[in-house]
Amino acid sequence: DELVSQIAAGEVVERPASVVRELVDNALDAGASQINVKLMAGGVRSIVVEDDGIGIASAELPLALRRHATSKIGSLDDLEAVSTMGFRGEALAAIASVADVSLLSRTASAPHALRLDARSGELGPAARAVGTSVEVRELFFNTPARRKFLKSDSTELAHALEAVRRHALARPDVGFAVWHEGKLVAQWRPARLDQRIRDVLGEEFLEGSRPVEHAAGPLTIQGRTALPELSRARADQQYVFVNGRYVRDRLIAHGVRSAYEDVLHGQRQPAYVLFATIVPELVDVNVHPTKIEVRFRDGRAVHQAVHRAVEGALAVSRA
Ligand code: ADP
Ligand code: MG
Repeated sequence: DELVSQIAAGEVVERPASVVRELVDNALDAGASQINVKLMAGGVRSIVVEDDGIGIASAELPLALRRHATSKIGSLDDLEAVSTMGFRGEALAAIASVADVSLLSRTASAPHALRLDARSGELGPAARAVGTSVEVRELFFNTPARRKFLKSDSTELAHALEAVRRHALARPDVGFAVWHEGKLVAQWRPARLDQRIRDVLGEEFLEGSRPVEHAAGPLTIQGRTALPELSRARADQQYVFVNGRYVRDRLIAHGVRSAYEDVLHGQRQPAYVLFATIVPELVDVNVHPTKIEVRFRDGRAVHQAVHRAVEGALAVSRA
């Protein structure tokens, strides 16, 4: 099972940023309102993610590290949940197979927190407010070939920050803070979406972009798309969220680009932040274990809606 987990880890854990993505994901699932990420050496030496979510009940603490242990599918009748969540209960087990992991957690009804060290299995009382801290140390210590592929600390930090940035854009209602080597490097307080975009991507992004707002039956598209001048400077800023989850989708990217071509006659790499909301039955999120890819039931309809949404936003700005 250790080996299976390590293989799964190859799919899920590529670098510290992947760990950050999964741990923050869990914190959000636990209903956290504030999430703190603390990194050492770009996250290679250690990653700590603290949340003020519901915590993990003491009896479930050891289970959280097992493969396919998930508290998020109540029963098999919960077919909807199975189909929308897929790849469940793999992340923590996968991470624990390639790093030293410890969990520190407390629920509201518990008299105190408990700390579990995954490697030794040691379980003991600890001090903590309600919520969870997950600590991941020495990533890839037992898979040197993979460790070798890690880049410099500053590059790994940049990727980890980007992972938090994506979550922060998806959840403006949640506060985020990131520390590196004990220094606060990013902090985003709970805000409305426009303010969060301003905080994460800068005032220039808000000023140099146009609101996108489009509804097409079971699909709505909202967000902001950058005007040409800003796009040139921010060609790397392309954020797409489907039902609140960051994804990379060629179909959507193409829909955006084709709208720029039609309206502005050639804008190679526009910058944008788009939130697509679609009824769950029309999208498969279980294409990849990290859920970074999705498959739409009706890709053409999605492409067309994105195209129209962006076209509309850009056309208004020219009027
Ligand atoms: P999944 O998120 O797909 O359920 P994970 O391996 O990421 O699988 O996590 C396993 C389980 O551990 C979760 O289902 C949840 O019950 C518990 N868990 C992990 N992180 C947290 C957290 N920060 N707060 C509360 N529970 C958590
Ligand atoms: Mg998870």
